Amino acid sequence: MATDAKKIPYKIYLEENEIPTSWYNMRADMKNKPAPLIHPGTLQPLKFEDMQPIFCDELIKQELDDETAYIPIPEPIQEFYKMYRPSPLTHAVFLEEALGTPAHIYYKFEGNNTSGSHKLNSAIAQAYYAKEQGLKGVTTETGAGQWGTALSMACSFFDIDCKVYMVKVSYEQKPFRREVMRTYGASVTPSPSMETNIGRAINAEHPGTTGSLGCAISEAVEVATSNEGYRYVLGSVLNQVLLHQSVIGLETKAACDKYGIKPDIIIGCAGGGSNLGGLIAPFMGEKLRGEADYRIIAVEPASCPSFTRGKFVYDFADTGKVCPMAKMYTLGHDYIPSPNHAGGLRYHGMSSILSQLYHDGLMEARTVEQTKVFEAAEQFARVEGILPAPESSHAIRAAIDEALKCKETGEEKTIIFGLTGTGYFDMTAYEAYNDGKMNDYIPTDEELAESFAKIPDIGL
Ligand SMILES: *Cc1c(COP(=O)(O)O)cnc(C)c1O
Repeated sequence: MATDAKKIPYKIYLEENEIPTSWYNMRADMKNKPAPLIHPGTLQPLKFEDMQPIFCDELIKQELDDETAYIPIPEPIQEFYKMYRPSPLTHAVFLEEALGTPAHIYYKFEGNNTSGSHKLNSAIAQAYYAKEQGLKGVTTETGAGQWGTALSMACSFFDIDCKVYMVKVSYEQKPFRREVMRTYGASVTPSPSMETNIGRAINAEHPGTTGSLGCAISEAVEVATSNEGYRYVLGSVLNQVLLHQSVIGLETKAACDKYGIKPDIIIGCAGGGSNLGGLIAPFMGEKLRGEADYRIIAVEPASCPSFTRGKFVYDFADTGKVCPMAKMYTLGHDYIPSPNHAGGLRYHGMSSILSQLYHDGLMEARTVEQTKVFEAAEQFARVEGILPAPESSHAIRAAIDEALKCKETGEEKTIIFGLTGTGYFDMTAYEAYNDGKMNDYIPTDEELAESFAKIPDIGL
């Protein structure tokens, strides 16, 4: 699509009054709706009352709403968004030049806030609804720490308590993230802890364990359900999180419309699917309604290939099996990806919305290997200036690869990718890459088969 690229500024900032005032709910336009969360005992879809002890009321309504296309963003959230939104859509002219490609590359940068990633877009919404409900606080887990950081910022803004269960190994290895959370007033507990029944049981069974995300989820849910005035919140995967993240895509679409940019390809990294689901939302809406067509590409690590090698079945959302079951592309709730350096992409499952869209052929997925990801990250950093998060760099890799294909064919395609965050807390990963000590682990079919075998066969 030939647009007059010269007339487009390097950084496209929308005006403050162009920040979306409603989120867009893709499910409203999906013919095949994502499968509902089900109760592992009864196998029945979870109803509002079933979720009430765990989640905030308004968030449950959003989770269950497959029909309302536009959901107004409450004014206090709109006000908070003004602190760091609209985020820039940047024309990657220096990267284009370095690659010598005829392609036009744009990236939507979500790292312009202290938490350093897009996760704040949903954290602030979730903290707001907890406050509105009169709750005392929320609990959550965090692995690499991005979600915990975003949530602690959001909770301090609305003055509610925030209890974060942080996987012990990250707690010890990432003291800086931990201190950012404490600076914003959150309590951070290494998981498994001795404060919960589940934590004590796990510690007794596996003395000296360094923990896992699944175990931290179990602890956070236990604390939320056993303390009056607390609920549990989650930073990805859920329908409500994709809804909040649609602010990314709506701004991107508005910027494109303003300057006559029509993307051919939209690319995002996929861990649980929230940034990608948010970025593509309005574009997928057009695609679902038959108004336009776009190639949409999800990029995942070769070490955790949920879309590309997973099964589309009901599985537990967490290792500890305390959460409901979701129908999604999954590697099995027991799958522990090799310790790669993109912590935010190491989830065994995938958003049910994106899983359904992928299953219906409305988007593509591919995997990339770690060293190739960091190669792209450094190439990008050196010409575009921003130091990208390892997660985001999966999208950079795919965007560069598509731009290089254009160089071969001479096609002038327009590529947009999501740059989800910055990598300042990931320098041990960059160190491993710079020292040539990074490896590219790819699970074997046998390993995956072993983990698939543990997915309960419920015939759905
Ligand atoms: C958490 C995270 C991701 C992956 O999560 P999604 O829910 O798939 O978006 C990607 N990039 C960054 C910077 C993150 O913090």
